[in-house]
Amino acid sequence: MDFGLSEKMQVVLPLIDEFVENELIPLEPDFLRRPFTDLLPVIEEKRRMVKQMELWAPNHPVEFGGMGLNLVAHGLVSEALGRSPLGHFVFGCHAPDAGNIEILHLHGTAAQKEKYLKPLVAGEIRSCFSMTEVDLAGSNPVLMDTTAVLENGHWVINGQKWYTTAADGSAFAIVMAKTDPEASPYLQASMIIVPTDTPGFNLVRNIPVMGHSGEDYFSHAEILYQNCRVPEENLLGPRGHGFVIAQERLGPGRIHHCMRWLGICRRAFDLMCHRALHRPIGPGKTLAHKQIIQSWIAESAAEIEAARLMVLNAAWKMDREGSKAARREISLIKFVVANTMQRVVDRALQVHGGLGMTDDTVLAFFYRHERAARIYDGADEVHKVSAARQILKGYEGRKVR
Ligand SMILES: Cc1cc2nc3c(=O)[nH]c(=O)nc-3n(C[C@H](O)[C@H](O)[C@H](O)COP(=O)(O)OP(=O)(O)OC[C@H]3O[C@@H](n4cnc5c(N)ncnc54)[C@H](O)[C@@H]3O)c2cc1C
Repeated sequence: MDFGLSEKMQVVLPLIDEFVENELIPLEPDFLRRPFTDLLPVIEEKRRMVKQMELWAPNHPVEFGGMGLNLVAHGLVSEALGRSPLGHFVFGCHAPDAGNIEILHLHGTAAQKEKYLKPLVAGEIRSCFSMTEVDLAGSNPVLMDTTAVLENGHWVINGQKWYTTAADGSAFAIVMAKTDPEASPYLQASMIIVPTDTPGFNLVRNIPVMGHSGEDYFSHAEILYQNCRVPEENLLGPRGHGFVIAQERLGPGRIHHCMRWLGICRRAFDLMCHRALHRPIGPGKTLAHKQIIQSWIAESAAEIEAARLMVLNAAWKMDREGSKAARREISLIKFVVANTMQRVVDRALQVHGGLGMTDDTVLAFFYRHERAARIYDGADEVHKVSAARQILKGYEGRKVR
């Protein structure tokens, strides 16, 4: 394994760290107290700065205006960006657009690339991914009620989705719908591009999540597709290959989340250590003098370091052998990093006492917002089952003494 930094990355990483520290973290008080839409003008300004520095879209292909970094390099960038909730958005490598860009890049037609991919990579429009349904277990997406029927050159889509992240304000959704209900289960669904101004695309509500409905990019919508008609050529990838493409999208998507969570760990850890050193609890004593706090700091440092090496290892394997070969590693990091982050943020919040519960630091936002890490893109339990199955396969027919 080689996680050594190229010359380019030795220059880029400190620049990004500095940008996050000086340009993004100061926006947090406003971000935490005001609607996200109020911040959009200043965010656009920061995005212009990032583009001028030629740091825009680090993970996206050079031919579409990105930096074309491999996964190990992007992992380090992503960790730096994850320290701020705005990092990935300001640098143009945010979910769900990042995953949708990958799908359009790999499977889009020339016309789809021109109309959707180009402005998406440039950050001129946003998109969402609409797969999970209200009434059926998202952990087994083959259970899907949404249908798309071909009628006179148009797909007619009907169904109810929720948790379509960032649908509010998106230009289009990539919708998973059953187009071939008679086919074998994994070949029944297709991906279809649906512009959000299409009649029949009804955004019912932004779902309140942990007490906040959010808006615009920071929201999760319930959407009712009612006789929503889009041209036949809006099919994305081969008909019936929706689940195959979704699997391709979720591999890199999961590692991208893990990389961002490491940045959250770093930020929470920094805040915890700083607070411990500066919170007096008696004459000449601070929280840092207490063994229980020292234990949290040592445990957090060890857990973050272990999680980080696991993520870099998975990225290194994916760079060399592709996401299929790294399925076991991806399943392992998905639940390990999500739980590490949850523990580290929880300890940091606890060290801050009452202050930790307020929005005067970013910790409460991380605590609320990132609990979902153990649920989306495969719940912990699903990844544990998947990893265990793959591990056990290696023991079949093997003699162990
Ligand atoms: C913040 C957030 C953002 C999201 N964004 C999107 C998005 O942009 N687009 C989209 O389509 N979806 C999105 N989702 C939906 C997400 O993918 C689903 O919530 C997830 O797949 C789980 O499905 P479910 O909620 O239906 O839970 P269920 O499938 O009902 O599972 C419930 C629980 O059962 C347990 N469980 C499930 N399967 C197993 C198993 N095999 N073995 C043991 N235990 C099991 C797990 O503990 C799981 O948490 C998002 C969800 C959240 C919370």
